[in-house]
Amino acid sequence: KASRAFHPEDTIIKTKHSVIGGKHLVLMAGPDSIESPEHVLEMGKDVKAAGATILRGGAFKPRTSPYSYQGNGEEGLKAHRAAADQLGMDMVTEILDTRDVDLVDKYTDIFQVGTRNMQNFALLKALGKTRKPVLLKRGMSATIDDLLNASEYIAAGGNDQIMLMERGIRTFDSKYTRNTFDLGAIPVLQKLTHYPIIADTSHAAGHSEFVAPLAQGAIAAGAQGLMTEIHNDPKHAFVDGAQALTPEQYSAMAAKLKKIHEVI
Ligand code: PEP
Repeated sequence: KASRAFHPEDTIIKTKHSVIGGKHLVLMAGPDSIESPEHVLEMGKDVKAAGATILRGGAFKPRTSPYSYQGNGEEGLKAHRAAADQLGMDMVTEILDTRDVDLVDKYTDIFQVGTRNMQNFALLKALGKTRKPVLLKRGMSATIDDLLNASEYIAAGGNDQIMLMERGIRTFDSKYTRNTFDLGAIPVLQKLTHYPIIADTSHAAGHSEFVAPLAQGAIAAGAQGLMTEIHNDPKHAFVDGAQALTPEQYSAMAAKLKKIHEVI
């Protein structure tokens, strides 16, 4: 179902506040994790002012160490929903566990499947039964075909509102960037599939100074959207402060991206 042979036209996903896919450019941004109702609202105001229509934030955090901050669960979902509603934005948040599908469905507009769960087939099947868009991140060691096959698990359940995300893969050099942003995956995926292709250069870069140059490359290569992490006080962010842009940096980057998108 992912193949262009099956569906030659670009899939366009329409949410309440966003049009995703085709010639449109969609900006998703917000904090890595939901820290407090006030914080997510403040970050939402900043990213909306810069042109984002989708507010991101994690209430369930997939941390490498079980001793790291794990997110604030339903309390975070509520705060995220309230901020998105107040600002007139869509909400995207990560789901980690099949047991949380109903809970997350109650709050979110878009389900996010993270890199660590790209091949969690039980989760993909469960999301295939929902009727909300799914943002599927490429596994950090997954091939392009692995990513496309994972999307089939969602589509097989009858949910064809799928976005695919390149967020950086593991290669031999992770000293300077957290992952290697696979720029080539963008035009390749666009040739192979009709689903919208979105880039996350925050997790690819791992360091804020590289987030914007990679994002410029991603949009120039044809990505139809970008997800970015921001924080007003990156040093004190609960999660991944090193890769967070400040609101000012985000706004400057977004202005450039819009110009790049106009000429491609
Ligand atoms: C995230 O977007 O919060 C996240 C954890 O991303 P990834 O799954 O790409 O690591």
